[in-house]
Amino acid sequence: MERARTLIIGAGISGLAFADWAEDDDYRIVEGEDEMGGYCRTVKRDGFVWDYSGHFFHFRHPEIEQYLVARMHGHRVLRIQRDSRIWYGDRFIDFPFQKNIHQLPPAEYEECIRGLLERPAEEGESFQEMLYARYGRGIAEKFLVPYNEKVYATDLGRLDAEAMGRFFPHASVEEILGGVDRGQIEGYNATFTYPEGGAIQYIEALAEGVRRDCIALGERVIEIDPLRKVARTTKRDIGYERLISSAPLPDLLAMCRVEYDRSALSHNKVLVFNLGFDRKGPTDVHWIYYPQRELCFYRVGFYDNIFGSDRMSLYVEIGLASETPLSERDHGAMKAQVLDDLRACGIVTGQTLIASHQVVLDPAYVHVTTASNEEAAAQKKRLAVHDIHSIGRYGSWTYCSIEDNIVEARALAESLYGSVVTC
Ligand SMILES: Cc1cc2nc3c(=O)[nH]c(=O)nc-3n(C[C@H](O)[C@H](O)[C@H](O)COP(=O)(O)OP(=O)(O)OC[C@H]3O[C@@H](n4cnc5c(N)ncnc54)[C@H](O)[C@@H]3O)c2cc1C
Repeated sequence: MERARTLIIGAGISGLAFADWAEDDDYRIVEGEDEMGGYCRTVKRDGFVWDYSGHFFHFRHPEIEQYLVARMHGHRVLRIQRDSRIWYGDRFIDFPFQKNIHQLPPAEYEECIRGLLERPAEEGESFQEMLYARYGRGIAEKFLVPYNEKVYATDLGRLDAEAMGRFFPHASVEEILGGVDRGQIEGYNATFTYPEGGAIQYIEALAEGVRRDCIALGERVIEIDPLRKVARTTKRDIGYERLISSAPLPDLLAMCRVEYDRSALSHNKVLVFNLGFDRKGPTDVHWIYYPQRELCFYRVGFYDNIFGSDRMSLYVEIGLASETPLSERDHGAMKAQVLDDLRACGIVTGQTLIASHQVVLDPAYVHVTTASNEEAAAQKKRLAVHDIHSIGRYGSWTYCSIEDNIVEARALAESLYGSVVTC
């Protein structure tokens, strides 16, 4: 039987970051897909550059960004000031909605202010209660509730108040009442970066520090015996001393034949259409949010306005319940629906579609609840006893960015090896 001191499941950001920072290079990375990257893969077609979904970057640790960019060998990384809007009725409202209600028609603005002043005194524990308690009925029902229901495809009353963590753009009552200047762009991603070659460039940068001969593509881990420390893949058995997994936590638990509370680890999936057209559409805007229940997508992004190119290049995101079946026929019907809806809201105005790509991200957004936090923490602890460490957005069952994945992988390498290969 083949042996490696460390077996890593997944060659996405998390698996590669761990290998890159590991002190010991006696490892194997087993990746189920035929290419590295996980959700940070990039598709290039007919001159269009698309990611698996809009992936834009905002690093809180400048040294991590510099470390990655230094490995891009002269490829440009664009730095962009965000222009994100909400399509509301017959107009655009700047994002975030709660700070820009002064842009609503006067009667709706007053309704939001009344709701804000009469909001419930108790915050409650759920995401939905938090929205009503902090922002009042008007803001909640005009944007925050319908939009997030479309994304998460679940009852927001189930989600934890902190389900989005630092990614939720909170606003104080003073900020809501004062509004913000048109030019003042706020939030965790007020400016963001994007490599000219797409998100895959971050993967390639991490992979530079990883032994290529240790990465096996197109091979899935299907079973793990935590007591014998043996993983069975679609091609062989691999004995290990330590296992690092970036597979979704429920999959890892199933591979280890560990019982878990399935209802606690629920999630949505996101169907993404990347669409390339023969000519330009709206200019300047980077992405638009759609709270309307009658429109199938919740967000549409414009790669062409990030690259400054002259043909409209979109990503369109549709949130679905994980159990929604999606046959090829359904994909075809959804694509037709997307194009109709893009026409209905004035994005497609006679342009011809010349290239397209679609992908399902499943899981995409995990449903962060009290039960999911407890179940994930308990199961991770249980696995760690057997030297199995579950990391990454889906391994840790959380809402996070690629930078968070890198930080987590680096911290794990540090704790396991005592020190890490430094930047
Ligand atoms: C809609 C959407 C938009 C996002 N936008 C952003 C953004 O703008 N900025 C940002 O920073 N982050 C964004 N993210 C988050 C980002 O995509 C993730 O944090 C990151 O890609 C997670 O990397 P990972 O390596 O942990 O997991 P993954 O990318 O899921 O990688 C896991 C890898 O493991 C492999 N694998 C799984 N099971 C097995 C198995 N049994 N055997 C072998 N291989 C296996 C998979 O094939 C995959 O390659 C977004 C996520 C979504 C869903």
